[in-house]
Amino acid sequence: KSGFISIIGRPNVGKSTFLNRVIGQKIAIMSDKPQTTRNKIQGVYTTDDSQIIFIDTPGIHKPKHKLGDFMMKVAQNTLKEVDIIMFMINADEGYGRGDEFIIEKLKNTNTPVFLVINKIDQIHPDELFPLIEQYKALYPFKEIVPISALQGNNVDTLLRQIHEYL
Ligand code: GDP
Ligand code: MG
Repeated sequence: KSGFISIIGRPNVGKSTFLNRVIGQKIAIMSDKPQTTRNKIQGVYTTDDSQIIFIDTPGIHKPKHKLGDFMMKVAQNTLKEVDIIMFMINADEGYGRGDEFIIEKLKNTNTPVFLVINKIDQIHPDELFPLIEQYKALYPFKEIVPISALQGNNVDTLLRQIHEYL
């Protein structure tokens, strides 16, 4: 199995920490799926039977700036071309403008979207359920996966769930 995953989310939610944890190889590998040169490959996760390619989606991370039509189209098209979108949030920060921007963009695609709630080591377990309920009301996420990218909690589960969608 192989697939492309776009990880999106506000700055500092833990995207790089997650990638550093899961990626063994930082090289681009040939795949049977069309390569999109405009997207930066951030890393490749390989196992005996699978290859998951994490890519950057330029434009979707910068809600502060007004983006040109071209950049916006690029970002939109990327989100349509990937197999899964991982939308990462920080468990100990509330819903904010950056999230609102991203969720609006998600509404224009049919790509499965996972909500990844990172930094669960920073919150009390009782806080998780209300957070999930809040985000569920905003978008029909295919999976909602709480993790700690830093400590590694539940990262295996997330990779397994990604696997099931490829
Ligand atoms: P990015 O901007 O989304 O790529 O975020 P980074 O990966 O650079 O992480 C931003 C900060 O959050 C860093 O100081 C990380 O060490 C910290 N961080 C990332 N994941 C976790 C986590 O699961 N738990 C905690 N406590 N901190 C985390
Ligand atoms: Mg980063």
